[in-house]
Amino acid sequence: MPAQQMAETALLARCHWLLQARWVVVAALAGALAANDGVLKLQRHTAPIWAVAAFIAIYNAVFTAFERRPKVCLIGERRGVAERIAAFVFMQMALDALALTVLLSFSGGIENPIAFFYIFHVALAGILLSRRLCYALASLATALVVAVAIAPLDYGFLGGVIQEAGLRRNAAFAASYLAAFACTMYVTAYVTTSVAADLRRRESELLSTAEALRETSEKLAALEEHKSQFMMTAAHQLKSPLAAIVSLLQAAGTGQVSPEKEKEMLARAVGRANGAVRQVQELLDLARLRALDPARHARKVLDFREVLESVRATIAAQADEKRVKIEFQAPDRAAWVEGNRDDLFVAVLNLVENAVKYSDSGGSVKVALRAEDAGWGLAVSDTGIGIPAAALPNLFREFFRAGNAIRRKIEGTGLGLSIVEQIVRMHGGRIRAESEENRGSTFTVWLPRAP
Ligand code: ADP
Repeated sequence: MPAQQMAETALLARCHWLLQARWVVVAALAGALAANDGVLKLQRHTAPIWAVAAFIAIYNAVFTAFERRPKVCLIGERRGVAERIAAFVFMQMALDALALTVLLSFSGGIENPIAFFYIFHVALAGILLSRRLCYALASLATALVVAVAIAPLDYGFLGGVIQEAGLRRNAAFAASYLAAFACTMYVTAYVTTSVAADLRRRESELLSTAEALRETSEKLAALEEHKSQFMMTAAHQLKSPLAAIVSLLQAAGTGQVSPEKEKEMLARAVGRANGAVRQVQELLDLARLRALDPARHARKVLDFREVLESVRATIAAQADEKRVKIEFQAPDRAAWVEGNRDDLFVAVLNLVENAVKYSDSGGSVKVALRAEDAGWGLAVSDTGIGIPAAALPNLFREFFRAGNAIRRKIEGTGLGLSIVEQIVRMHGGRIRAESEENRGSTFTVWLPRAP
């Protein structure tokens, strides 16, 4: 859950707590009134206080009904969700303050010690709401108490007891009382909002740390999933040549086949074994490249043309044997790149080998290096079997082989392009493939120029 959403959920939970607490207040008030009316008989006219209790119960019921849908609660659609929940809580607290004021008016006015109950609301607002709303509530409470102090009220409940002292009629008392009251409200607002701000900051730090941890663990889970998928495919791919070798050897060893047939079977077994060894070698290469820390990867500035030259020497015999014409084009001046010579050789050789392998006899391959943007562009094009459009997006996935290559029984592991992509990426470059089935393919690699 994102941090913002978690904060909103926490605020909603506190809002729920406030609604529950208010029911307790209503019950306590009703209990006290019932005790008075039935037994204590401290006050005869408790009807206004019953009205206050009923008023609190009604607005609490309304707010409870809206609790699950604070968005609907008349607070303005344009504001954010957290702001709306805060306004929802503030409205409740303002009504609480109003109810308390009415209660106070009928129970001895400012001389009744419950006047200080406003402090609960201000403290709660400091914890739940913004600084601005908390000070607004402190000001509202002060204004209401000032109004109670100056209003010509006929106190009821408890009023008889408190009015005996006649404190309200003493102007000096009233002024110092109100000053102390205002001071208490604002100091409470200041202290709670400061502490709450600090707590909120820490909470949001914790939430963002938790969020980062969650993202990391999701990435790890995805990696783990990819790893097991990779292992399963690798094992599966290795199983087929091994199974073929076993059955060829078993058949050859029965002594029931002619010497020529036996020879042919052994040759096929050797062919499959060589394929398996190649596959294991490519798997090892890929694993090594993936485990490499690019920062520690041994690199030096080298002339990319030299890499091309080594590839030309290595591929020449293979291309000749298949009667595929191969042409190399390179600039006259040095093509400086920063990299690992062996890895770059493997990458270019893989591309050129593929170009030859997937070309029919008589086809042609062109390897062209030229300056491009702030680097070097290497294009390996062939006039071979091409790649179906649907296969292009999957080309660099491990073990992926296009249908047309499989149908033609051209041997391969589906790992070469993953290795090439990994090497290119480690060198800060990029690779792209364009192709048209039965027409040919072009693989373009871009590498940054050495600084
Ligand atoms: P491999 O060639 O061993 O199967 P690669 O990873 O090098 O594995 O290539 C993946 C697949 O991409 C190949 O199986 C083939 O279908 C397709 N492919 C790669 N290069 C070419 C190309 N030059 N022409 C046609 N198809 C290609």
